[in-house]
Amino acid sequence: MPTSTSIDIAEVLDRAAGGGRITPAEALDLYRYAPLHALGQAADAARRRRYAGTEQIATYIIERNINYTNVCVTACKFCAFYAPPKSEAGWTRDLDDMLRRCAETVELGGTQIMFQGGHHPEFGVEYYERLFSTVKEAFPQLVIHSLGASEVAHMAKVSGVSVEEAIVRIRDAGLDSFAGAGAELLPARPRTVIAPLKESGERWLEIMEVAHGLGVESTCTMLMGTGETNAERIEHLAMVRDVQDRTGGFRAFIPYTYQPNNNHLKGRTQATPLEYLRLIAIARLFLHNVAHIQGSWLTTGKELGQLSLHYGADDLGSIMLEENVVSSAGAKHRSNLGELITLIRGADRVPAQRSTTYEHLRVHDDPADDPVDERVVSHLSSIADDAPRARKQLPVLSGARGEA
Ligand code: SF4
Repeated sequence: MPTSTSIDIAEVLDRAAGGGRITPAEALDLYRYAPLHALGQAADAARRRRYAGTEQIATYIIERNINYTNVCVTACKFCAFYAPPKSEAGWTRDLDDMLRRCAETVELGGTQIMFQGGHHPEFGVEYYERLFSTVKEAFPQLVIHSLGASEVAHMAKVSGVSVEEAIVRIRDAGLDSFAGAGAELLPARPRTVIAPLKESGERWLEIMEVAHGLGVESTCTMLMGTGETNAERIEHLAMVRDVQDRTGGFRAFIPYTYQPNNNHLKGRTQATPLEYLRLIAIARLFLHNVAHIQGSWLTTGKELGQLSLHYGADDLGSIMLEENVVSSAGAKHRSNLGELITLIRGADRVPAQRSTTYEHLRVHDDPADDPVDERVVSHLSSIADDAPRARKQLPVLSGARGEA
């Protein structure tokens, strides 16, 4: 074990596991030097402590990511999804198509829609008002957990209004919470390298803080593996924790790993599985004020997702009935409801389907009662994927692939 640290690793791990606050410098030293198993053990202790009484449960959600357009003026260098304006590869999905996708989500037991898309040069606040109000009217039972500060900054600019006005208007039209996309890496150096046209990390957080103040809570993501330093990873966490100290509006922290295909960065760097696991553990220990830490199976693989449940994660994300953004960059992992439940159980946790706000909707404490709907598979209509078997099994789906 490397020893070039002045901190008492055991003492800092104990303090963090007990719910105490650690400094960014301590977090960085833990990230660099703490023995892997001790780090995981402390993070797991912190998770168990926070969820005492329900600590055996690990959650998942059934949702669909619906992409309304891939046209984008922001041209992030890690992105394999967007097409520049006027490109022949650009498309926009019509409202009826999106409503059909929502209907399928309801039929398959999904509870949440995540609308994701590019920064279309003509999509202002009005576009999102119409989208959200139409969906809410047709499917009031679906939670619209979508967009992030970047989309708010863009739509406010297109419409010539303040971000406050933009947030109030889309909230009143039906947006329930922000998905926290676009955080990428918040510190200035790596953000400028991978997303030079995006708003600054400070601005991203300012907009989230405004949203939290207006009653719109969110999650917060982090993109790992594009060449950022360990110190910059911890700085990202520290920036999130500072805002959370003031607002309490981040429900969950969701790190995921950069995918190398079809983008300008060309996969020159990538986060390793151990870097990812250590980050999950540090997030649990450092972000003592954020309730949920989400492990990922989509970008890191199922086994690593399973392991993350022993390194501080309490949630394994979603069955993404549809996902195109990360999958376009090479995320190849696919799953289905039965497998996700089995994965969670294999990690010695009791699986539970959750709502967007993390209430337990169905606790699967008896394997004999596990849901058996074989239609509930990830990527059932992904345009980044060939999923013919899944489509065949889904009679309600009418030729969704490639309709964009
Ligand atoms: S990540 Fe989002 S904002 Fe960036 S280029 Fe892709 S679609 Fe556009």
